[in-house]
Amino acid sequence: MSPIRLIVMHSMEWAEKGTTAEDCARMFATMARPASAHVCVDNDSVVRCVADRDTAWAAPGANADGLQMELAGFARQKREDWLDSYSRDLLKQAAAVAAGWAKLYKIPIRKLSQAELRAGRRGFTSHMDVSAVYKRSDHGDPGTGFPWDVFLAMVKDVLSGEDDGDDEIVAPKWTRPLSTPPTTKGTDVRIWQRQMRKRGWNITVDGWYGPADEEICKKFQREKGLPATGVVDAKTWAAAWTEPIT
Ligand SMILES: [Zn+2]
Repeated sequence: MSPIRLIVMHSMEWAEKGTTAEDCARMFATMARPASAHVCVDNDSVVRCVADRDTAWAAPGANADGLQMELAGFARQKREDWLDSYSRDLLKQAAAVAAGWAKLYKIPIRKLSQAELRAGRRGFTSHMDVSAVYKRSDHGDPGTGFPWDVFLAMVKDVLSGEDDGDDEIVAPKWTRPLSTPPTTKGTDVRIWQRQMRKRGWNITVDGWYGPADEEICKKFQREKGLPATGVVDAKTWAAAWTEPIT
């Protein structure tokens, strides 16, 4: 089994911007003392800094057996700050990466207690808990306000969307337009995403209709001669099941 047993969450202590992940990655690449993470995440991108097989220097005590993820934002953020629209988009990006890691390295989608971390269990943890257990750094990120419940639910959502059991040939009933903004969220979004994924589109099945979904929708609509609105209306919905895959 892979030596990787942990996904370690961090906050960069950098302000929330569209370029924060890129800026942080650039800093890691140019700074003299060893510090890095496997990926840096902001609201609209994930920047890969270190390959999974290589060790990132982010959380002394859990470097060799952990994958490190840096999130734009601050450890002082309260729960509601982590759930504002910027951070929701960020968590969504982070969840997609974490889901891939969890699947690949067989990491259970649960937050470890400090005792479990110390005992060598597999799971998710924070830099804060790594500091408390191994006492080799004093970092407290991503802070006590980090919404673990929401984040881990998003990770589970990504994975549950991927194991598509039943192959539906007939379009399920369309009930409402899927659009952004406001972001449409729900089972119908996941059903549509799963169908689009089956058709070969590179789409994340997470139940949230975001800008990436809108882009795919527009491309699909153009391909099928429908008005490219980016909104999944009744015709666009039906076409995902009835139109031939080209
Ligand atoms: Zn950290």
